[in-house]
Amino acid sequence: MRGELAGDYGAPLFVAWQLSNRCSAACLACCEESGPDKAWKDELSRGAALDLAQRIVEAQVPYVAFGGGEPLAVPHCWDIFDLLSEADIAIKIETDGRHIDEAAADRLAALAVQCIQVSVDGATAATHQRVRPGSNFNAAITAIERLVERGLTPQITFVPNRLNLHEITATYDLAVRLGCEAFVTGPMMRIGRAATNWEQLRCGDDDWHSAVQTLREHARTSPARIGLSIYPWDILTEMKRRLENPQAMLLIVPNGKIKLLNALPFAPADLRKDSLARAWRAYQDAWRAPEVQAFIAACQAWPALLRHANETWTMGTEPARAP
Ligand code: SF4
Repeated sequence: MRGELAGDYGAPLFVAWQLSNRCSAACLACCEESGPDKAWKDELSRGAALDLAQRIVEAQVPYVAFGGGEPLAVPHCWDIFDLLSEADIAIKIETDGRHIDEAAADRLAALAVQCIQVSVDGATAATHQRVRPGSNFNAAITAIERLVERGLTPQITFVPNRLNLHEITATYDLAVRLGCEAFVTGPMMRIGRAATNWEQLRCGDDDWHSAVQTLREHARTSPARIGLSIYPWDILTEMKRRLENPQAMLLIVPNGKIKLLNALPFAPADLRKDSLARAWRAYQDAWRAPEVQAFIAACQAWPALLRHANETWTMGTEPARAP
């Protein structure tokens, strides 16, 4: 039976596309280490990005998700959305909300974007902005209100850590009050800036499990219920699971290279040069490569290796590294 796994398909089932690594914020737990001065020097131009979007259309990929850096800060994002939407490709956008003014909300509604996730890392401006320096709580909340007014169904995403775990239930309530479709959370991923800040930010396992239990019970008894999605795995478990069952997904980073997973630094194809079909084959082959298997095994023993997650190694040439 066909499912979500790579081997079931002749092309990716979905594409996760990072248009830029630039972002106005510099969140402490950002898994891409994005920031105001973090655009890559070789990010795809508007022309190259539109060409790639056209190839995604031709490959009949049904779903494209745009994530951080901030996708809505990239001027040509709208041209890409238009192109995909005209081809009936479902779009997901992960954003901090600051670029969703009235006009952008109108455009997103017209595009009938399937899923918009707005990051809200606390029930109060103080907590949200402490965890997300450079971000703006009111902008995120106003963005959600604008989307709901237009009949869209935004979701709140919440990255739990030592600074905000005490507000997880209150943030769920905020999502309910705002009319969100769902509250989405899961263990903080030890990659990007979250890896750098790991010891200061990480919650203890007991604290996290206790917060999950409380949140589930609270949501269950809440009079107005919305979706509650709690991702079950930390990033080390995710890597092992994906090695066993690679997803039918291509991750495209800002310079057009393909990665297996945001936690894995291997880049088996480059869409500036390679066709989507070739990249798809390279992606599937890479999951079976001994160097990828060895890296995943090494990370289980030395999680500090995850500091390499945001790099892009050409297959067969990964640099020597110490734990
Ligand atoms: S988590 Fe999102 S909003 Fe924050 S720095 Fe990263 S990309 Fe930007």
